[in-house]
Amino acid sequence: MSESFYVTTPLYYVNAQPHLGHAYTTVIADALARWHRQHGESVFFLTGTDEHGEKIAQAAHAQGVSPQTFADRASQWFRSLWASLGISYDRFIRTTEPQHVEVVRKVLEVLHNQGALRRGTYIFWYCVPCETAWSESDFPDPHTRLCPSCQRPTDRAEEDDYFLDLEPHRAWLIEYIETHPSFILPVSRRNEVLGMLKKALPPLCVTRPKDRVPWGIEVPFSSKHVTYVWFDALLNYLSALDWPDGAAFQECWQKAGAIHLIGKDIIRHHAVYWPIILHALKIEPPKTIFAHGWWLVEGEKMSKSKGNMVDPVAVVKTYGMDALRYFLLRDVPLGEDGIFSESALIRRINADLANDLGNLVYRSLSMLEKHAHGRIPSGRPSEEDRHRMDAIEHAIALAIRTLAIDEALKAIWDWVNQANRSIEEEAPWELARSGHKEKLDSFLYRLADRIRVVALWLWPFLPKAAQSIWEQLGFEIPVDRSLLPSALDHPIPPGQKIRKAPPLFPRIV
Ligand SMILES: [Zn+2]
Repeated sequence: MSESFYVTTPLYYVNAQPHLGHAYTTVIADALARWHRQHGESVFFLTGTDEHGEKIAQAAHAQGVSPQTFADRASQWFRSLWASLGISYDRFIRTTEPQHVEVVRKVLEVLHNQGALRRGTYIFWYCVPCETAWSESDFPDPHTRLCPSCQRPTDRAEEDDYFLDLEPHRAWLIEYIETHPSFILPVSRRNEVLGMLKKALPPLCVTRPKDRVPWGIEVPFSSKHVTYVWFDALLNYLSALDWPDGAAFQECWQKAGAIHLIGKDIIRHHAVYWPIILHALKIEPPKTIFAHGWWLVEGEKMSKSKGNMVDPVAVVKTYGMDALRYFLLRDVPLGEDGIFSESALIRRINADLANDLGNLVYRSLSMLEKHAHGRIPSGRPSEEDRHRMDAIEHAIALAIRTLAIDEALKAIWDWVNQANRSIEEEAPWELARSGHKEKLDSFLYRLADRIRVVALWLWPFLPKAAQSIWEQLGFEIPVDRSLLPSALDHPIPPGQKIRKAPPLFPRIV
């Protein structure tokens, strides 16, 4: 029976256009999903949009449309960006769709029936831009009460709501984190969460009065309340699996275990609230919550108020989807902050993509045209190559399973660079000049086969370039139809006609 893999991104809030941070999380999830599919696993890759709450109602009002119409449009921005970035999600869920609404209401009913929810007065300090209600103990400075997440001023408020007590679950959660080392990653984030759990947890308010926030999922046991938008959004990880009776829930949640990829700014919601909500429902926690870092622009976090947002749509238009994917996946180890700038992106494109990869493919295919009449000559891979190939395949697998994607790409580039070196060392043009036909054929064969392996390895990360290399080598069946690692052992057939194309990544000057 094949293994299963369940990976999620957060549901993106549709109050504004997608930015580089959204693209980052989604590209990571996509690379992982593709790699696991390529290795024969049954994959479920979930993403989507979070569409309820005050800010959506406000944004819709400003445009003179209904919240649903606004959400329909905004959800589409994300879908088109994912199309332009080659994102291969299996399910795009929206929190306004009936399947999700039904699950949220069911969860609230279950919790209410078991007495886990209680009514009370909610006193809070609310940050409208973050849609986050903060309690007194959250403020580093209790005098200013600035939002701990965005540093903006917050508003004091009081209302009648329903609560889920978190404190009774705190000891359990601490123990769970301590006994499951890969539950919260990286370690720095795990320590941050354990820090949050050092003091008593205030109850989580899971509703909002409908007269203040009308745009939300109505609570089944109170017509005066809607569901708090975060509580609503987190439940997508279950509703997309058709919890509680769906086969997908069995397969993805129970058997595979969820990998939640998130930005580090939403760690509290995912690593404190979410496991406790699940614990209250008697559902196992996800397998891993991985919080990646931020892309900083000139040393600062991107934000609308600073006007330094990077628009991924524009970057893809200018540089292409694979260039952006490569930069995001390669430039920093997952979990650390990165610095985004156009010059850094161009440096990567020119050095790694144009010079190393593009050049290898272009000059190899040129030599096959010139010295082998555009066909793969006879030959076979060397034993040495087969050993190195196995070692690199192993290194990539290890890197992917530990979410060290940059290490996987480095391993592939070791192979690319070795192939480039072999051209310098064996100087095929000399072999051609001196009439060593057999030696030349044998070298060109090995070179073509090394490039075949590059295409297979690159597919999860740079799907467009991988497919192009594959076609240039003359393969008819798409590259994604080959399963690894077994496909590595099927060398390129001699006699196959190549189809050389222009350079994959032209140098940017
Ligand atoms: Zn805030």
